[in-house]
Amino acid sequence: MKILTIVGARPQFIKAAALSRELGLRSGVEEVIVHTGQHFDANMSDVFFTEMDLPKPKHNLHIHSLGHGAMTGRMMEGIEGLLMTEKPNLLLVYGDTNSTIAGALAAKKLHIPVGHVEAGLRSFNMKMPEEVNRILTDRISDHLFCPTQTAVDNLMREGFEGFDCQIHRSGDVMQDAAMYYARTSAERSKVIAEQELEAGFVLATIHRAENTDDPERLGGIIQALNEINRERRVICPLHPRTRNLLEKQGVKPEFTVLDPVGYFDMIELLKAASMVMTDSGGLQKEAYFFQNPCVTMRDETEWTELVDHGYNVTVGADKERILGAYAQMKNASLDFSNDLYGGGKAAAAIADVLQGLE
Ligand code: UDP
Repeated sequence: MKILTIVGARPQFIKAAALSRELGLRSGVEEVIVHTGQHFDANMSDVFFTEMDLPKPKHNLHIHSLGHGAMTGRMMEGIEGLLMTEKPNLLLVYGDTNSTIAGALAAKKLHIPVGHVEAGLRSFNMKMPEEVNRILTDRISDHLFCPTQTAVDNLMREGFEGFDCQIHRSGDVMQDAAMYYARTSAERSKVIAEQELEAGFVLATIHRAENTDDPERLGGIIQALNEINRERRVICPLHPRTRNLLEKQGVKPEFTVLDPVGYFDMIELLKAASMVMTDSGGLQKEAYFFQNPCVTMRDETEWTELVDHGYNVTVGADKERILGAYAQMKNASLDFSNDLYGGGKAAAAIADVLQGLE
């Protein structure tokens, strides 16, 4: 079983790290990793390969900093060439980026089966490029690895049981990664000491286009975090694109802004924080894994089970609503003892399926 894995963006390196380790243990499975180049800064890409022992990509397409059409098109072209030379039995894609849809389309048209890790997620907001990518990738995938029952239900509602594909409720590989790397992160991270952090701060991230590209939304978020920072320290590792846009728009954060951090630093920040405020998909779950309440600065979330259980509130980007949610969540008493994401066994479940394929 030869698997060609496509990665390109930060959350995909983290998800792939969990599954690649497991695939490496399986006899008869060979994995070739392709990096599309979508994320290319050292602290958005290289750091994850080094820290997480993710095998170095055999191929890097170096495609980045382009519009959606050009990026996706060039990725398809590059991946198609590699599929013809590498001749894998299956192509594996993760999540919802342009690298995901480009890989799935290229493989499907060559009749190479596609496995989609993190299938079935929906925000029901078709203005999000991620939503378009995930719906189309799901539709042409042969193996849909769903992280949650909600994701399985979404596929059922869309009629996937009538399609020629297999749906697996595998659990979430991000929990596998969080649990595995949390064992050693304290020894390998210095962020708490370097930033002179005391436990109890608010950990914030902002990167989603719907927030960063809209001056009103971005302004609302920054003003709210500025105000919270007067009461409780706010620490924000900031995506380079958000930092550039803030400078362009003349918005000034008064809280602690860091360059993007590696995964060990992120885990140590999550362990010491008392709340997460984010527009990231991954961070919403990591807040839960490390028992922090979460305020999601988006209008909707794909991880609705977190909201249903009271761990997360979605508030959009209005300053007053964000402040209201912060006040509500800082006093919330939450029981984190249930298991929403498979308890760290997702990679094994997915590898079982892949190893069993002809
Ligand atoms: N992350 C990280 N360093 C950072 C910010 C995020 O290691 O400075 C990790 C985070 O812990 C999570 C993943 O990157 O595992 C989430 O990526 P991102 O927020 O870019 O994408 P999304 O999850 O929204 O697709």
